[in-house]
This record gives sequence, structure tokens and C-alpha cells, in this order.
Amino acid sequence: MAENRDYYEVLGVSKQASDDEIKKAYRVLAKKYHPDMHPGDKECEEKFKEASEAYAVLSDADKRRQYDQMGHEAFTGSGGAGGFNYSDFDMGDIFGDIFGDLFGGGRSSRRASNSPQKGANVRAGVRITFHEACFGVEKELELNLKDECSHCHGTGAKPGTSPETCSKCGGKGQVVYTQQSLFGMVRNVQPCPDCHGTGKVVKEKCPDCHGSGYIASRKKIQVSIPAGIDNGQSIRIREKGEPGVNGGPRGDLLVEVAVSRDPVFIRQEYDIISTAPISYATAALGGDVKIKTIDGEVIYTVKPGTQTNTKVRLRGKGVPTLRNKAVRGDHYVTLAVQVPTKLSAEQKDLLRKFEESLTGVTAEAQSATDSEHDHKGKKKFFKK
Ligand SMILES: [Zn+2]
Ligand SMILES: [Zn+2]
Repeated sequence: MAENRDYYEVLGVSKQASDDEIKKAYRVLAKKYHPDMHPGDKECEEKFKEASEAYAVLSDADKRRQYDQMGHEAFTGSGGAGGFNYSDFDMGDIFGDIFGDLFGGGRSSRRASNSPQKGANVRAGVRITFHEACFGVEKELELNLKDECSHCHGTGAKPGTSPETCSKCGGKGQVVYTQQSLFGMVRNVQPCPDCHGTGKVVKEKCPDCHGSGYIASRKKIQVSIPAGIDNGQSIRIREKGEPGVNGGPRGDLLVEVAVSRDPVFIRQEYDIISTAPISYATAALGGDVKIKTIDGEVIYTVKPGTQTNTKVRLRGKGVPTLRNKAVRGDHYVTLAVQVPTKLSAEQKDLLRKFEESLTGVTAEAQSATDSEHDHKGKKKFFKK
């Protein structure tokens, strides 16, 4: 721009134009001269910039008043040759206002990055037994946790000195890159690389924390693990994470619970599944069976003639529920009839006699049937 034209003239509106009129006028010009419509056309680009500049000033009540009083003088010194500094204006918002419907928004986030922010969450893990998961347990974790440095009170600056405002971002904590893009002038807002978004730079570092403002130390933290917790679930301990930034609260500590496998019990939701051995004699005659539960051994009386794989339900002997530990799942036991593998000569003899006693009954019945019907040959399978 060789020289500054009057902003009202640029937009073709009167000095008394309303905000609406100014917006309308700019919209017409912006569409007409938009660089996307005229790639490589320097004149159009200049006209587009000129109109954008005029709009940026006249659409802002404060800047418009300054301009009305002082003309272009109001803005000299703040920018380059044209006396206009784009970075003073939130072009993202202008485009949001004007082109929101055309380009589908694209407003830049306006949250200042040096506002109070919650600290990061910290993750940790703890391993517990099946029994501990069922009934709850208190665990002590040892973690490296950051705390505000007491020497510099978190500023990171050597006591007696204080952090200086970052010269790169002027203390805003973010830098704006204005780019000519498909959508015209676009502001890219990024955290400032020099101060990492804090807006402050430490020149003389605190010797205790080396400028970080934090000191990490080994901390013991009590974790109350509730009854009924399952493998892979996490417990949130509020504000035991990383310290917040700019006065924000600490993050949380998330403790993931790993439950060790149990040799006897398998969990399914809040129910427990297990298998219990039962002797052949007890299965046949009926009697008491000892069954392991998470509460200890219980005695269960089986009926005579209990088959292997019979399922037994022990009501309320399952895992306590997280919401109410008095409410529990059930325990399902599969009875497995044991076949003896090591037998003494005497035991073998007894079993043979036992077997004979069974087949003997059959033989008698068979001979009776055979003589009745005078059939020979069918020894085992017959109808009575
Ligand atoms: Zn900075
Ligand atoms: Zn320090």
C-alpha cells in the first residue's frame, strides 16, 4: 500500500455508517477481492488487505473512535510501513463473523493459554489378590510426585529475582502466525515456544528446582481399594496428580488395579465359579462335602446318587458389589466325582466285590428271564 486511504472510503460507507452497514460493505469487498478468487493477482490481494484492515478498525468500537479522532496516526508505531499491525487484530474472529456461513466457522480458540489450568493426571498401578479384590484393601503406593518448589514458590526464578515477561509472545503465552491461505488471512495460534505458554521467562534460575518451579519427591499415598473391584478398573484419587498451572488445581491420580489369578476361584461379574472334588462314595451315598468359598470352607450336603458335573449354587457367596458390599453375587460350584487312581489290593478286592454285587443282581435277573422265555444268548441287554 503506497499510502493509507481513508477507511470509510475504502469500504465505501459514510462516517456515520452503522456496524451492520460496515459489515455488509466489507463482506461484499472481501468476496470480490478474495485472494482465492484471484490467485496470484497482487492488486486484488492488496485491495483485500486494505478492506480487511479498514474493517478490522471500523468494526471495533474502540479502534473506530481512535481512528475518528486521530486518523491513521492512531495506529502508527504499532506496525510496519503501513502503520498497521495485523497481529493486533483477531482476524480469525473477523472471518468467523463474516465468513462463518461461507467457510463453516474456523474461529480460533480464544482461551488464553496462561489462564489457570488443572494439572495433568498421573497413572499408577497396583496388584492385589483375588481375596483383596473381594473384600477391599488399603494399599500404600510410593510415587514420584511434583510439588511447588518452596524455595522459589513455583516461579522457577532465583529468589530475589522474578520471571520476566516473555519477549517473544509479550506475556500472552501464545504466538500468532498470520498466514495467507486458502481462506485469506488466517491466524494460527500456538503456544509460545520460548516460554511454553506460561508468558514468563526465567533469566536466573532457582538453584533448587533448576527453573522448573517444581520439585519431585517420593511420596507415600494411601489407596483405599473398595470391595468388589475387578481387574483393570481404576480408582481416582482427586488432586494427587501433577500440580496445576497458573494456580489451577492439581490433576488426579488414577490407580489401575490388577487382580492376580486365583488357583480356585474364577470371577464372572459378581459371581464366582469353582470346581469342588467329591468322592465316589459320597456321590453315591450322599453326605457332606467341604467346599472352598471366599469366606472360608462351607459344608454342603449332597443327595445320594449325585452325578459328576452337578452344579451347586451357593447363594450370596459371590463377590460383594462395588455399590453395596452387603449385596453379593452367587458362587456356582461344579462337583467333580473323583475316580480313585491309586488303590491298595484290599481296595481293589472290595471294588471287584462291589462290581460283582451289581452284575450279580443282573445275572440273577437275567437267568430268571432266560428260563422264563427260554431264550439264550442275550446276556446283558434285555427287557424285563
Ligand atoms: Zn512466550
Ligand atoms: Zn525453585
